[in-house]
Amino acid sequence: MIRLAARLTLLLCLAASPVRAEPFADYLETLRPAARSRGVSDAVFDRAIAGLTPDPQVEALTKRQPEFSRPIGAYLASAVSASRITSGRKELEKAATTLQAIEVRYGVPAEIVVAVWGVESNFGASPGSKDVLRSLITLAYIGYRTDYFAREFVTALGILQKGDVPRADMRGSWAGAMGQTQFMPSSFEKFAVDFDGDGHRDIWRSLPDALASTANYLSQNGWQRGLPWGFEVVLPANFDYAISRHSFADWAKLGIHRADKGALPATGEGIMFFPSGAAGPAFLATQNFAVLKTYNNSDAYALSVAHLADRMKGRPAFVSAWPADEQPLPREERKELQQYLIKLGYAVDDKEGRISFAMRDMIREVQARYHLRPDGNPDWALMKALRGGPDAR
Ligand code: CA
Repeated sequence: MIRLAARLTLLLCLAASPVRAEPFADYLETLRPAARSRGVSDAVFDRAIAGLTPDPQVEALTKRQPEFSRPIGAYLASAVSASRITSGRKELEKAATTLQAIEVRYGVPAEIVVAVWGVESNFGASPGSKDVLRSLITLAYIGYRTDYFAREFVTALGILQKGDVPRADMRGSWAGAMGQTQFMPSSFEKFAVDFDGDGHRDIWRSLPDALASTANYLSQNGWQRGLPWGFEVVLPANFDYAISRHSFADWAKLGIHRADKGALPATGEGIMFFPSGAAGPAFLATQNFAVLKTYNNSDAYALSVAHLADRMKGRPAFVSAWPADEQPLPREERKELQQYLIKLGYAVDDKEGRISFAMRDMIREVQARYHLRPDGNPDWALMKALRGGPDAR
């Protein structure tokens, strides 16, 4: 264990330098000790890195992250398109027997599993064709979250060592997300399962393995059996925006009802959620919505999965329109906002611009201080107030 820790420390130290002067081949060699300590043989290591070069396309792609910069309405329109809903319904039917067995074992509804699959890889049609090892090592080498990607590279070598997938078939996205589930190697290690029983965890070619691995991921990250992700809701005219958490029963007493006229659950808690502020649709979300964000930490992503699942099951489209002129706060500004929250004494759970339900509650309090409508949404009005300091009140 001590030797492993020392090697990991060595790896992290080496990985800390942002711009690498050393030649690529020398950099690869620095990762061999970490690979060895994960049980990767020199033969597997040498075969894996043979002919490996940095991928020039990958660096440019690090600048694009659509779910963080596009208005949520626009993101949803493409992620939950009519054709994707139609395809999803067909896939639900085709894989019904497997999905039923998956739901029994993991407690995740078939339509949620298929919706993740649809958003991640367009139902297996776009799993990414990049050489995952090459993507990971390029990101580490160019200094883009180096320690993270170097660890993922070493983990990927460990997967090759175990023989779940041949080197040539280990394909995925430019960011190293693999196969139909778009698992990073570390997620594969923790959550991939062999559901078809052939002895291999194959999220590339086995649909039962891919779907069950997704369900296992959500289950292990806290998905609660029988709990809906949430509902679009309609608010009464006198709604107090500062309230964010209640039992569904208490929300109903406050005059909140579902936009589709269905009944709110008799038990359980709902979190009031305005993904694009009070001017856009309102939702009561549950902890299962937060679990969807563990797959990909973005509200737009989680809402796309949730809504695609609903639409595949024949539930209606959202009733309220998304604000046409919405300018979402870019990631840098959301990071800045998190720093303001920290300065104000809040225990912020992320510093990379990701906004949790807990952070939305903090934002509600700060909005109230500045006499802004406390809808919990990180927006430009709040940003301007915070930048203006006390005089802006
Ligand atoms: Ca298998």
